[in-house]
Amino acid sequence: MDEFALIRQYFSQSTASITECTSYVGVGDDCAVLGVRQGEMVICKDVLIEGRHFFSDVDPFLLGHKALAVNLSDIAAMAAKPLACLLGIALPRVDAPWLEAFSRGFKRLAERYDCALVGGDTTRSEAGIFISVTALGMGRQPFPLRANAALGDDIWVSGQLGAPKIALELLLKQQQVTLSNNELKLLADTRERLEQPEPQVHLGQLLKPYIHAMIDISDGLLQDLSHILAASQLGAIVYAERLPLHPALFRVDARQALNAVLAGGDEYQLCFTAPAKYRNEIEQCALNSDSSVHRIGQITSSTELILLDAAGQVVENLPQGFNHFS
Ligand code: ADP
Ligand code: MG
Repeated sequence: MDEFALIRQYFSQSTASITECTSYVGVGDDCAVLGVRQGEMVICKDVLIEGRHFFSDVDPFLLGHKALAVNLSDIAAMAAKPLACLLGIALPRVDAPWLEAFSRGFKRLAERYDCALVGGDTTRSEAGIFISVTALGMGRQPFPLRANAALGDDIWVSGQLGAPKIALELLLKQQQVTLSNNELKLLADTRERLEQPEPQVHLGQLLKPYIHAMIDISDGLLQDLSHILAASQLGAIVYAERLPLHPALFRVDARQALNAVLAGGDEYQLCFTAPAKYRNEIEQCALNSDSSVHRIGQITSSTELILLDAAGQVVENLPQGFNHFS
């Protein structure tokens, strides 16, 4: 199968609706054309590399889902609405069943969030699979930028955290040794959170009137919250007993569980700050978007991030999140 047949077969028919566009040209020309109404366009890109961001034997359907999900999560963190996406992919060979499953996972998520695949690039790699997705969305000023947190804001996170990190640790361990039955059960209960994250697109948009700053948790709660604090030149107190743990975490060592919640990446949940007067409205946003939100702390005037345990003691030696070049 040549390049053009491959594009036609797997990446040309996007059945996602492009409700936000006044006119539209998709895959097949040198550029896509999108007619847009008033507002601001938000644009983001993520790169996924075999062996670094995903295991070589990952289910291609789930990988297709995740390649788009991580970008939709960035759109969600800007409280914006998905519009369209572009897919760049480099493959060492044409593997038809792999491509069929990958494109199915990608397009199914694209359809669910009305994010049409309007273009991309397809090429051969010397070795390994490289994927890069660019997503476009529509939003409106003011955006919940990282620099917009205010003194006294509540700090919130969505979802239940920690499962992706536990799943990743088990998958890495499984490459070395045979997992015990308990570990296999734990992997079964956490793996979907790693391999098939659900971007919080609806929650992000609903929160917009009430929040100041927002970020999606891709590199770990502490690290991503630190980005808000650094950009806003403020600090935070976070209460360990308020952190929402994924239920499977109650079956691992307490220190490992806390570490997974604080420093585990690949969550794609939202962390945001908001004035205390909007607590009820924010709870309602979660109900209306079938998600959950948890108030975990406050923005303070120091520039430190302090974690307090249930006894009110400062937790020392906080774990670090993920940083590719650290
Ligand atoms: P060009 O050479 O002008 O860059 P290509 O021959 O690379 O165009 O691609 C032909 C068409 O197919 C373009 O509209 C391009 O956006 C689209 N396309 C290529 N690869 C992909 C892909 N992986 N997913 C979606 N569209 C793609
Ligand atoms: Mg061209």
